[in-house]
Amino acid sequence: MARPAMAEIDLGSIRHNFQCATSLRPQGRTLAVVKADAYGHGVAEVTGALADLTSAFATASIEEALAIRAVGLPHPVLLLEGFFDAEELPEISRQGFWSAIHHDWQLQQLERAVLPSPISVWLKVDTGMHRLGFTPAQALDAFRRLQALPHVDRIVVMSHLANADVPDSPGISVAAQLARLPREFTEAGVELSLANSAGVLAHELACRQWQRPGIMLYGASPLAQQNPHSRQLQPAMTLTSRIIATRWVEPGEQVGYGGRFIASRRCRVGTVAIGYADGYPRQAVEGTPVLVGGQRTGIVGRVSMDMLTVDLTDLADFTKADVGTEVELWGKNLLATEVASGCDTIPYHLFTGVTARVPRVYS
Ligand code: PLP
Repeated sequence: MARPAMAEIDLGSIRHNFQCATSLRPQGRTLAVVKADAYGHGVAEVTGALADLTSAFATASIEEALAIRAVGLPHPVLLLEGFFDAEELPEISRQGFWSAIHHDWQLQQLERAVLPSPISVWLKVDTGMHRLGFTPAQALDAFRRLQALPHVDRIVVMSHLANADVPDSPGISVAAQLARLPREFTEAGVELSLANSAGVLAHELACRQWQRPGIMLYGASPLAQQNPHSRQLQPAMTLTSRIIATRWVEPGEQVGYGGRFIASRRCRVGTVAIGYADGYPRQAVEGTPVLVGGQRTGIVGRVSMDMLTVDLTDLADFTKADVGTEVELWGKNLLATEVASGCDTIPYHLFTGVTARVPRVYS
């Protein structure tokens, strides 16, 4: 029998979540962000499932975009960070990819380029994230330089929201970021793209001609406070394994490496075949939730490379908590958001961290 750790991916849920985004913001168009192997869900399967719903995809690099071509899909693919080297430009143009331009070095390379066919450019403006993009003061000049290039056939202005998920963040608000966008762009009717998932779910004003949701497509809400829209999302990835051993542990005895858990009473412990080499975070604290045969309990002891240990002592039904019982680490019945908070991280990190040795099973 094979090692039991697996990630079941429900492609119907991904389609449902995409449709949530489009029906919520019908005023614009929605592209599907599928970078990092579709947030760990498998780019070939996810793009195939969304092919008839979306008009474009977005990735972090040309290599990720070419993986979409490799499965035969002709859609435009936005490169969210553009190109890393001018040598990528002819291929970007041949493939019909759309390139973000976030810095003057890229603009200069584009000005010097000789391309087989014109390309579409997404001009990135830094409205407060301070990671990528032209300052609002530089953006108009950059826009005009792009307009002057015969090999640029379309310009979309994009910006990225820093705190759309946290209403009371000490950082910049969505409204303040919107206010920093040069008015000339909005007044001239330039196509705009601002909203990530949190923007789509909670900030109508940020939803313009193009929305760019990622995490919500996979069924996790980025919002600190949920709303009726985020509650409609369906988790797409369910990570499961099985109990491969059980034992009683006496008071004063430790469980796992480092003596981090010392039993204060007689405990029944189950050992589950999944560990940090599968992508389950080693930082998980005691009590991080798991579902054992559908019953909720928590982790005890340190997560090790191939296994973790769970507390079975208080489960009502021991027959559903023995060798062979299925354990859900996160998914349809246990939100990744809740597990992530026990691991001092976010669902993005959980999903993209599931390693190649965990088979993905699609339905
Ligand atoms: N747009 C850009 C530029 C991004 O970098 C990302 C992801 O980090 C997204 C959109 C999608 O964000 P989210 O997954 O929060 O929806």
